[in-house]
Amino acid sequence: MSSLFPALTGGPGERVALRFGERSLTYADLAAAAGAVAARVRDAGRVAVWATPEPETAVAVVGALLAGVAAVPLNPRSGEKELAHILADSAPTLVLAAPGAGLPAALAGLERVGVDTQGTGGVPEDRTSEGDPALIVYTSGTTGPPKGAVISRRAVAATLDALADAWQWTGDDVLVHGLPLFHVHGLVLGILGPLRRGGSVRHLGRFDTAGVARELNDGATMLFGVPTMYHRIAEALPDDPGLAKALGRARLLVSGSAALPVHDHERITAATGQRVIERYGMTETLMNTSVRADGEARAGTVGVPLPGVELRLVEEDGTVLAAYDGETVGEIQVRGPNLFTEYLNRPDATAAAFTADGWFRTGDMAVREPDGYVRIVGRKATDLIKSGGYKIGAGEIENALLEHPGVREAAVTGEPDADLGERIVAWIVPVDPESPPSLEELADHVARRLAPHKRPRVVRLLDVLPRNDMGKIMKRALGGA
Ligand code: ATP
Ligand code: MG
Repeated sequence: MSSLFPALTGGPGERVALRFGERSLTYADLAAAAGAVAARVRDAGRVAVWATPEPETAVAVVGALLAGVAAVPLNPRSGEKELAHILADSAPTLVLAAPGAGLPAALAGLERVGVDTQGTGGVPEDRTSEGDPALIVYTSGTTGPPKGAVISRRAVAATLDALADAWQWTGDDVLVHGLPLFHVHGLVLGILGPLRRGGSVRHLGRFDTAGVARELNDGATMLFGVPTMYHRIAEALPDDPGLAKALGRARLLVSGSAALPVHDHERITAATGQRVIERYGMTETLMNTSVRADGEARAGTVGVPLPGVELRLVEEDGTVLAAYDGETVGEIQVRGPNLFTEYLNRPDATAAAFTADGWFRTGDMAVREPDGYVRIVGRKATDLIKSGGYKIGAGEIENALLEHPGVREAAVTGEPDADLGERIVAWIVPVDPESPPSLEELADHVARRLAPHKRPRVVRLLDVLPRNDMGKIMKRALGGA
């Protein structure tokens, strides 16, 4: 197929491709370093990448892609048990890592190859086909043990080109990146995306609002973040006029991986004049929808299907929604060149995930506005509460709770109730643990904004919500799955 990264061979060699703190690589440097990796891994069946937030990770993955060898990014923060599971499942022949990285015992059996960011190789001739696996990425493990999604080169190219169209994303863009590099968001969108466009990435190592402000003041044009980052930004803005000004300079602020609370979105818009573009995707499908750069912003929605992506909503009884009324909830099903090939070693799970006519069942529930905008209600497994004969989405109750001045963070689950079937439980991190809002106060607050049957029946206070590495709320840990 045509190259995933035209800028590595034809582009402006002296342009900075990657910057991680003090360390930068131009396109020419990256071509040489990734070319050296490609030569080294050419005959490997599949390679693991110890995905620390360092330039070595980008060089390793690009090198594997140049060689046509599938890369399995590993989360350096995952426990031994999870690592052992992923290694046994994906069976890599070697692990690529930064020279200084300390590797855990679970990796002891693998040949270790150090990645040299100053390597001197050349970009090999492309002998791959579109359907070849590019990456095996493990899902975030929010609802169960992570599953390995086999992602083709076609899917990577299709999703990045669709995003380029939706976001008017070009080689002139400079991305501020503070996400981990072992999931689709941080790796495919955040690293491979700018490299496919011939643009630049500046990785913060670790996200902080000061780093975001610094990079935006220094010419960066885009920020990709998860909702917990935008929450931190929203909390910091009232005391940090410099941050507001810096964010005001950005061309595009993008959020994904979980729902962006409406309250955070609105606070950011009020302080900076900017909207946050929400996009919706999964490991299995890469990106499905986004608000477009030239489209209308609407807090709480994930926009419209990306070019090439077919999307439909399907009711529980199998009815495909024919018209959109902004109210009828259905499961999101998608089809398109962005889809994964299969779950590794799990033919049954793969078969169960697709309908007979090739639509992927996302497990996410949504409504569509009459003009096509998609509003996600939540996950079928954890966010749909069946209470008193109603089907209630956790997301809108969470959004309502977050508007209460005494609530810092909120998660809503259902638990069995003899009367109602399920009762609505609000897990709250209060602003002031000394005087948290009462159940009555929160129930009234929600009933006034939504409808009486959506009010929580139980409030449980927490110091923090259980979240995974992407900042996603682990409802399993709250007894919600
Ligand atoms: P696992 O599949 O292992 O339980 P996971 O589903 O969290 O974990 P990912 O593939 O990383 O793993 O996440 C995809 C899910 O994230 C989607 O199915 C959806 O529920 C959620 N998601 C992603 N973007 C958004 C968004 N903008 N708004 C709401 N939810 C989102
Ligand atoms: Mg999932």
